[in-house]
Amino acid sequence: MSSFHFPPLGEFNFIQKILEGDLAMDEIPPQKRVWFGAGDDCAAFDGWLVTKDMSAENSHFRLDWSSPEDAVEKCIVSNVSDISAMGGKATMALLGICVNKNWTKELRERIAKAFSDGFQKRGIALIGGDIVSSNEGLFSITMLGRAAGEPLRRSGAKVGDTVYVSSPIGASGAGLWAFLHGKNQDAEITDVVREHLAPVIDEHRGEKLLALGVSGGCIDLSDGLSSELNHLALSSGVKIQIEEAKIPVHPGALRLSKKYGVDPREFWLFGGEDYRLLFTSTISEETFRKNGVPAYAIGKVFEGSGVEMLNLQGKMETVKASGWSHL
Ligand code: ADP
Ligand code: MG
Repeated sequence: MSSFHFPPLGEFNFIQKILEGDLAMDEIPPQKRVWFGAGDDCAAFDGWLVTKDMSAENSHFRLDWSSPEDAVEKCIVSNVSDISAMGGKATMALLGICVNKNWTKELRERIAKAFSDGFQKRGIALIGGDIVSSNEGLFSITMLGRAAGEPLRRSGAKVGDTVYVSSPIGASGAGLWAFLHGKNQDAEITDVVREHLAPVIDEHRGEKLLALGVSGGCIDLSDGLSSELNHLALSSGVKIQIEEAKIPVHPGALRLSKKYGVDPREFWLFGGEDYRLLFTSTISEETFRKNGVPAYAIGKVFEGSGVEMLNLQGKMETVKASGWSHL
């Protein structure tokens, strides 16, 4: 069985059940092979990184909220982000599409073009896939990439490391809130609405971190900071302490939270789909900045387990994994 550590959330219990009988990789003749399976953002073998992320209609995307182009773009970004989180560059993809039987020809063609354009502009070769049809749409991408060095892993956080996020966070969660509360037409928060529909990330950030010599733990923020911090801490066997005052909250998320009286933590701590990187390193914030790779220090890695946050009131609180879970 693979060695992996998942937080006790419904979705991860389910994954754990599927993986219970999986092949122990160590028992397979190695032939100098370096590989690892589930438990990270990507699996790795023979120098390749491989990930799969799916987008289900009415769960990940709603065509009354988003254009088909945005829905496709977001699905591609979610995959590229996993490759980036391991320090890699996405190079190839296999594409599965379940076509909703009610989609018009025009809609199907827009989706096909969006995938074609989306892969092409990133230099990703589409090497295969499958098409089926059913009552709801689904996009399923298997993305392959390569890292120019040791891949960054969730288990790489070391005591003494500084904990960083690669960018301000919380925009996507705020955008989702706007849709759920009928405020998505508010002209003052178009930035977070856009981020929710199709996040624009630095897709080469992971490669840049690796090139700078980062060798700590790394994960992308797909399910929310609280969940991903717990993933990192658990996988690395360490305790992580963060400071609320240091979190770079996206200005649009703050604007929305002030205007509508919502606790911004809902967006940056518990909201998902930021697709920015959460990583640890011994490199200083200043060195990152000097090298043109901005990083925001939010905390430190200690001996122990779990995640704590020094809140704005000066109290230390436990941060439980409570982001998005499908089950
Ligand atoms: P991410 O959010 O980075 O896409 P997840 O949190 O969804 O990753 O998944 C955690 C780990 O579990 C990953 O290594 C992933 O490959 C693995 N995993 C998820 N679903 C399944 C499944 N159905 N079968 C096997 N492994 C899975
Ligand atoms: Mg991920």
